[in-house]
Amino acid sequence: MTTAKHQILIVGGGTAGITVAARELRKGYADVAVIEPSSTHYYQPLWTLVGGGQTKASTTERTESSVMPTKATWIKKAAFAFDPDNNTVTCADGATYEYDVLVVCPGIQLDWNRIDGLEDTLGKDGVSSNYRFDLAPRTWDFIRTTRSGTAVFTMPSGPIKCAGAPQKIAYLASDHWRKEGVLDDIDVHLVVPTPRIFGIPEIADNLDAVIADYGITLHTNSEVTSVEAEGRKVAVKSIGEGGTDTTLPYDVLHVVPHQSAPNWIKSSPLSTGDANGYVDIDKYTMQHVRYPNVFSLGDAGSSPNSKTGAAIRKQAPVVVDNIDSFLKNQPLGAKYHGYASCPLVTSSHAMLLAEFDYSMQMTPSIPLFDPAKPHRAYWYLKKYGLPFLYWNLMLKGLA
Ligand SMILES: Cc1cc2nc3c(=O)[nH]c(=O)nc-3n(C[C@H](O)[C@H](O)[C@H](O)COP(=O)(O)OP(=O)(O)OC[C@H]3O[C@@H](n4cnc5c(N)ncnc54)[C@H](O)[C@@H]3O)c2cc1C
Repeated sequence: MTTAKHQILIVGGGTAGITVAARELRKGYADVAVIEPSSTHYYQPLWTLVGGGQTKASTTERTESSVMPTKATWIKKAAFAFDPDNNTVTCADGATYEYDVLVVCPGIQLDWNRIDGLEDTLGKDGVSSNYRFDLAPRTWDFIRTTRSGTAVFTMPSGPIKCAGAPQKIAYLASDHWRKEGVLDDIDVHLVVPTPRIFGIPEIADNLDAVIADYGITLHTNSEVTSVEAEGRKVAVKSIGEGGTDTTLPYDVLHVVPHQSAPNWIKSSPLSTGDANGYVDIDKYTMQHVRYPNVFSLGDAGSSPNSKTGAAIRKQAPVVVDNIDSFLKNQPLGAKYHGYASCPLVTSSHAMLLAEFDYSMQMTPSIPLFDPAKPHRAYWYLKKYGLPFLYWNLMLKGLA
């Protein structure tokens, strides 16, 4: 039985959901509802700086009610199932909502269990991850109290949100240890699944120089498969040419989990049906490939861009324009070309702003600086400028 009907129904009130809701209302659509179970909204990009001791976790959270557009209907529930043939979404409490247009953006699932032995040791004995609000401060506790030994930083294979975050924390930690005069006593390892540290050669060259400067051992084409908490060891497996098969001891371990679509999306008719199971959309129009009144963006969508808030800033206007065209029975004219940006913090005072599109061509917004090199001004942009833009403009549908 249908509980209520809304013209535009949005699943997920995170970065994507709130941005789209605000833009729809500004465009003049009055009946916009957001299904979102959480009372708290997070600005996740700052979790890297929390783990690196540069800011407090409390600066990254606000109440969901403070970001929800006042004219949107907030359905404070978890969505549970889609029936796109009947234009309905069912929530965990059994309530069913009907829509004219559905926007699916409930974020990504962190698959901690895909690394054996990891879940039980998270937050304890030197093991942490900036991918959880509660754990990011633990990362800093472990970094700050380490004076010698071995530190291991890992990145998993497959799409993840903010692919730069696994390496940024290695640089922030090394910078801190250098300032403390203990970097020479810490053996730092960075394990990545890719052939190089970054997909754009000019940027990879400069990051290789940063890595060499800190004395970090980089293991490319490799990933961590298990954690043995008692012996404080991780197993590293080669997944490509020149990869490493070894066991590394650790005193500090920063792990980024494998990621995929939430399980209930994977098993829904909206999924691509492959192992990652994201919402199956056209990568330019963001419209579902089988259900024309369904759109998706953000981390849950199948478009092959780098999964970042920066990408959502460019996707949201495309989704809103194309929904408008769809509702007016016009051809969809707006296109997203894969823009994403990755603010790669290389120390506590420098950052490289990698901006690129589907073709992996660099697309710098600020032509003043060499986009392949770290700059001090970008660090201020990361710590102060981008959070300001996020809370005050992007979530209000103004940028
Ligand atoms: C450590 C870290 C560093 C990052 N650094 C950067 C960076 O420097 N730059 C950058 O641009 N991006 C960065 N990101 C990525 C960025 O935060 C995400 O790409 C972005 O938040 C994704 O937005 P989203 O709306 O798709 O998902 P989210 O913002 O995660 O929102 C998903 C929402 O859906 C809700 N939800 C979940 N399940 C349900 C359900 N069943 N029903 C209804 N709602 C549900 C959740 O409660 C949540 O509010 C970083 C992320 C992390 C973790």
